[in-house]
Amino acid sequence: MTDTPQPIIDLRSDTVTKPSPAMRDAMARAEVGDDVYGEDPTVNRLQEAGAALVGKRAALFVPSGTAGNQLCLRAHTEPGHEVIVEGASHIVRYELGAAAALAGVQLHWVPGRRGLMTAEQVEAAIRPKDAYSIQSALICLENTHNAGGGTVYPLATIQAIRRVASVHGLPMHLDGARLFNAVVASGVSAADYARHFDTVTFCLSKGLGAPAGSLIATDDRLLLERIRRFRRMYGGAMRQAGILAAAGLYALEHNIQRLADDHAHARQLAARLQQIPGISIDPETVDTNILFFDVIGAKWSAKEFVAALKPHGLLLNAVGACSCRAVTHLDVPTEAIEQAAEKIARVLDR
Ligand SMILES: *Cc1c(COP(=O)(O)O)cnc(C)c1O
Repeated sequence: MTDTPQPIIDLRSDTVTKPSPAMRDAMARAEVGDDVYGEDPTVNRLQEAGAALVGKRAALFVPSGTAGNQLCLRAHTEPGHEVIVEGASHIVRYELGAAAALAGVQLHWVPGRRGLMTAEQVEAAIRPKDAYSIQSALICLENTHNAGGGTVYPLATIQAIRRVASVHGLPMHLDGARLFNAVVASGVSAADYARHFDTVTFCLSKGLGAPAGSLIATDDRLLLERIRRFRRMYGGAMRQAGILAAAGLYALEHNIQRLADDHAHARQLAARLQQIPGISIDPETVDTNILFFDVIGAKWSAKEFVAALKPHGLLLNAVGACSCRAVTHLDVPTEAIEQAAEKIARVLDR
């Protein structure tokens, strides 16, 4: 029997998706211009489409999700302000201290449950307005929550947090890197989530499959002009970016509804992993396309386990001493889910 080489199954992240031939075709045909002059017609179309999709008046194309978050943090605050944010959020963990280094703000971490804060927690984190307290300036939520396990914010929780924010006169920012995963999983429209936020960012790369780019959407045109100036200051203004914007437009048109497949694949993988001795997983915690599981028994650390899987053509991320993360995405077909589970079972069985 000869082994036919199988393609590598890459479940490290949905950031590893590559532009499809049809997306590349759209990129190759894109009309372009100088976007710093506002003259790239494809960027303009993407910004209009993205804004409409989340029910906001305007949007701005930026190179990455981190750029989107950081520009919003900078625009909503002044150095010395405090930003309320969940303790395991992307802004806290994975943006390399940019909030402090670039916006000059202090982050007030609120410990969430699977990444989700309650309105009571947020209210308790707001500083008193007196002469010696740091001033709270912004509340940030992340939906879906990455490190929480792809968790979807219940709309009622967002509404309750918004009521607290309004009472205290604070703006809200949504890190919606995976907003459309939340939309597809919950059936709540992007606009129904977004209406509670002053600014919303979402990624066109990740599960939507574009090679790069995020959008910042808002109803506040003055704020958007301020964000545009910071985008230039931060080095994020691009010229003939229509080539990337064309990929983003293609992603918005073709790759949103299919996120449901990724969610089904994640549930399927969780159900399979639950049957494998040596793996501990709670399938109830799989809301969208991200799943965490533990390797149990003293034999492996997560790092060693992930390294042992690599020669078998399966890539995962180790995220803790015994905890691994798998993320499903559009470059992972249905048959790869069973193959991934088999590889995991085989390596554990050795
Ligand atoms: C991926 C991600 C971002 C942005 O990441 P970039 O790599 O800068 O595009 C922001 N927030 C969350 C929750 C993410 O998962």
